[in-house]
Amino acid sequence: MELLKQRILEDGKCYPGGILKVDSFINHQMDPDLMCRIGEEFARLYSGCGINKIVTIEASGIAPAIMTGAVMHLPVVFVKKKKPKTMENMLATTVHSFTKDRDYTVCISADFLTGKDNILFIDDFLAYGNAANGIIDLARQSGAHIAGFGFIIEKAFQNGGNNLRSMGYRVESLASVASLDNCQITLL
Ligand code: 5GP
Repeated sequence: MELLKQRILEDGKCYPGGILKVDSFINHQMDPDLMCRIGEEFARLYSGCGINKIVTIEASGIAPAIMTGAVMHLPVVFVKKKKPKTMENMLATTVHSFTKDRDYTVCISADFLTGKDNILFIDDFLAYGNAANGIIDLARQSGAHIAGFGFIIEKAFQNGGNNLRSMGYRVESLASVASLDNCQITLL
């Protein structure tokens, strides 16, 4: 997606520790036209794969997941970062947060992730793959099949993508960052 790559190079900001901030068009202020294009692109990439549900994780995955679900006419389920007292049939797993550098428990109702589901997981960033591994665990617990992963931005130098691909998963990233060395954004 050339438009996305252009925005990353023009408006993305590097921070120490391999962090890329895209707050002005994805993570804080959002560009709805770009987000629509992102949804269309994921829908195009995964058309004909028999997907019946989009799954994401709070909070920044929700916007691209909804856009993708709207284009594909599929329900969108988001994994929650706080356990609601009222959730029934809860499936839970532990995920390490890259941005907050701590572990937290994420959960989803087994009513919305079942052995009948063939899911597409959508998120904003792929770094080390911790969130994706949490989804793999929740899918394993529920018996759901993962048709693939879709990330707006993959930081290729942090290897989450390599790990997922070596496990046999399909991973589609709309932009890949080769390096953030010296606060310089280099795309693949
Ligand atoms: P992972 O679980 O793959 O290690 O990290 C992905 C998650 O951490 C994403 O859900 C994303 O919200 C957050 N994340 C990882 N790296 C970055 C980054 O460079 N910038 C921003 N804004 N979020 C990131």
